[in-house]
Amino acid sequence: MWADCVNRGGPGSQRCHNSGMTEHSTQSQADLLPPDARIFVAGHRGLVGSAVQRRLTADGYQVLTRTRDQLDLRDAAATAAYLRAERPDAVVLAAAKVGGILANSSYPVQFLEDNLRIQLSVVAGAHQADVRRLLLLGSSCIYPRLSPQPIPESALLTGPLEPTNEAYAIAKIAGIVQVQSYRRQYGASYVSAMPTNLYGPGDNFDPLGSHVLPALIRRFHEAARDGLPEVLLWGSGSPRREFLHVDDLASACELLLRRYDDDVPVNVGCGADLTIRELAGIVAEVTGFTGEIGYDRSKPDGTPRKLLDVSRLTALGWRPRIPLAEGVAATYRWWLEHSADHPARDSVRR
Ligand code: NDP
Repeated sequence: MWADCVNRGGPGSQRCHNSGMTEHSTQSQADLLPPDARIFVAGHRGLVGSAVQRRLTADGYQVLTRTRDQLDLRDAAATAAYLRAERPDAVVLAAAKVGGILANSSYPVQFLEDNLRIQLSVVAGAHQADVRRLLLLGSSCIYPRLSPQPIPESALLTGPLEPTNEAYAIAKIAGIVQVQSYRRQYGASYVSAMPTNLYGPGDNFDPLGSHVLPALIRRFHEAARDGLPEVLLWGSGSPRREFLHVDDLASACELLLRRYDDDVPVNVGCGADLTIRELAGIVAEVTGFTGEIGYDRSKPDGTPRKLLDVSRLTALGWRPRIPLAEGVAATYRWWLEHSADHPARDSVRR
């Protein structure tokens, strides 16, 4: 019954894929990927895509990749032709135009249109090429600004979004609905995942475009190196945030490809948060900064708390494995090895 539902197209399959999935079928132990599956990882040079590639390769899958120069995923015809020629068993969509607050608020057109175009090309192209499994990566920014904490998947489309990244979030929400629509209309076994803040090897340390954790690593490293007495951070230090090592995300992606087949996008996080003040303490210790940490309370704090409810994912048996302090230390070592002494390569990519 389960395997039948997964791959059969047409209106008859609607019964299997709408929200009427039973708890039992959602958590089926049937493996939805053959052990020798060929998997196209779109965006394999990014933070997420590179981790997914490492994980899938280590577990014996054959990973297919294309650089942006070889295949611009905004080009629907070229993407469809590539997927028809390769006919992978599965696709992981980790290619996206991604950036921090500054980039999002400066270039909303590109954040909306590039992401819509990439999703349209890859999801429609995969369906045309009879790709059986697809995992689309979204983001926790799809949830309303004032969501209940921890944020359940059911919070989607229940309130206004954070205005600074609305264009990006709307594009990602369109991707979720696109995946759900392929499930409903064609019985496609496509799913989506919503990760929390990620960090790890391959992260972007560019001062203008980086997320909070690599930005802190860089600032504390430079302060320790230059013997500065104080690092001054924006806000009060009291907002709470959640961080997940990207290798833990990659293991969740593999699990979802193998075991999850439902309409509902799945939150991926570690299930625990900490204050920015606590995070700064960890980064200071890792980087060897022994000065004062000050807080500029005239600057905005942002949302007081942002934590995902990950009970849907943990019900599948997944647990994160990399403690934050350990992951931050490993990421710091990676950055030192790859770019710290080469400013021109701040956002070095694999
Ligand atoms: P990165 O910017 O690190 O990587 C994005 C990748 O997409 C790059 O390899 C880039 O190629 C590729 N890409 C972008 N545009 C195109 C295009 N037109 N054609 C082909 N390839 C393209 O992003 P992340 O790995 O951080 O993010 C991946 C996904 O994970 C996104 O959907 C994001 O929303 C999600 N996510 C990320 C979080 C994070 O904290 N980083 C948190 C939550 C979700 P190139 O190398 O050539 O630039």
